[in-house]
Amino acid sequence: MPTALPADLAAPLGTSPYPLAPSNPGPADGFAPSLAALQLISAELIPIRDKVLRGERLTYEDGQLLFATPDLNGTGALANYLTETRNGNRTTFTYNRHLNYTNVCQYKCMFCAFRRDGDEDDAVVMSPEFVREKLRTEFTDTMKEVHVVGGIHPSLPYEYYLELLRTIKSERPNLHVKGFTMIELDEIARLAGKPIEEVLLELREAGLDSCPGGGAEVLSPRVHKKLYNGKLPPERWLETTRKVHAAGYKTNATMLFGHIESTDERLDHLVQLRALQDETGGFMQFIPLVFHPDNTPLQRLGKTTGTDSLRTIAVSRLMLDDFPHVKAYWIMTGIKIAQIALHFGADDIDGTVVEEHITHDAGATTPQGLTTSQMAALIHEAGRVPVLRDTLYQELEVVG
Ligand code: SF4
Repeated sequence: MPTALPADLAAPLGTSPYPLAPSNPGPADGFAPSLAALQLISAELIPIRDKVLRGERLTYEDGQLLFATPDLNGTGALANYLTETRNGNRTTFTYNRHLNYTNVCQYKCMFCAFRRDGDEDDAVVMSPEFVREKLRTEFTDTMKEVHVVGGIHPSLPYEYYLELLRTIKSERPNLHVKGFTMIELDEIARLAGKPIEEVLLELREAGLDSCPGGGAEVLSPRVHKKLYNGKLPPERWLETTRKVHAAGYKTNATMLFGHIESTDERLDHLVQLRALQDETGGFMQFIPLVFHPDNTPLQRLGKTTGTDSLRTIAVSRLMLDDFPHVKAYWIMTGIKIAQIALHFGADDIDGTVVEEHITHDAGATTPQGLTTSQMAALIHEAGRVPVLRDTLYQELEVVG
C-alpha cells in the first residue's frame, strides 16, 4: 500500500536537499527526481526516507537498518532519489587507460591475485623507455586520463617514480595523471627519505595530478590484521590521505567488500571517510570494489552476490552525503549490475580502462576494456544520459 509523501518534505524540482558540490550539476530542466518509488517503501524505512527528503545526515543505526532490511528496492529508491537530486538523469564516464607499472610487491595481502615476487616469470617492472613506447603506440591525444598504480616494489628508487611521471607528461602532456594509492605514496616517501609533504610537491612538479582511492580496503583493525597485516594500517591510511588533501590533490576513496568484513565494519569504514571528507573536502568520489577471490588464498569464500553489490552501493550513497559522486565500477560489478546500480545511487561508471590486470588476475570475466561508444550505449540502455567527463568531473560532452 503506497504511503503518501509528506507535502513539506520533497525538494522542489531542480534542487537537492543535500549541499551540492561544484561537480554536481543538479537535475536538468524538465527532469524530476523519482519520488513515486518513495511511496512504496516499507514502513521501517519511512523515518530514513523523511531524513533523506529533509537532507539530514543518516546515523550509524540508520546504516545498520539499511543493510538489514529485506526492502532492497526501497533502499535503492532512497539512494536513487539522492543521486537524481544531485546529478539528474546523467551518468558520467571517462576515456582512460590503466598503467600497472609493476606487479612486484613486498606485501602478501590475502585478497590479492595481482602481486608477484621479483623472480617470478611473469613479474613486470616497466622501464621509463617501455612506458614511453606504450604511450606512443597505445594511447591517443583524445584520451583524458591515465590511471597509474602498482605493487609495493621492495627496491625501486625514488627517482624511478619521478621519471615515470616525467615520461608520461613529456609524451602525452594533456593526459591527466591519476596515480599512486596512499600505500604507494607512503612507500615512495620512505624511499625518498623525506617528509611526505615535500615528496608530494616533487611528484606534482614531475607530473602527478590526482590520486586514486585504493589501498584502504576496509578501515577495520580486525580485517587489517587478518588479511593485510604489514600494509598501511587504517589510521595511517587516513592520516596519509589527510596530508595528500592538504597538499591540494583531489583523491577518490574505495572500499573492498564481500570477503570477511561484517556490515558493521563496512559502516565503520563509511563513517570514517565521511568524517574525513567533512574535514578536508578532498574526495571526489567513492568506489565500492567487489572482492574477486579467484587465484587468491581466499578463494574458498566465493563471490558476493549482485544484490549485496547493489545494496552496498545504495547504502554508501546514502551514508556518504558529503561525497559528490558514487561509482559503479563495471570491471568489478559486471556490466549488468553496473547498469542496475545507476538506479541504486551510482552516478558514474568509471572509464574505458582498456588494459586491466588487478581484477582480471582474480577472475573477473568482464572485458579488459570498452570503447567510449560502448560505454555510452550501456548507459543509454540503462535509461541514463551518458556524459563524458574528465578526472575532476568537469563535464565535457553529452555522448550519443
Ligand atoms: S593489494 Fe597491493 S599491497 Fe597488497 S599484495 Fe597486492 S599489490 Fe601488494
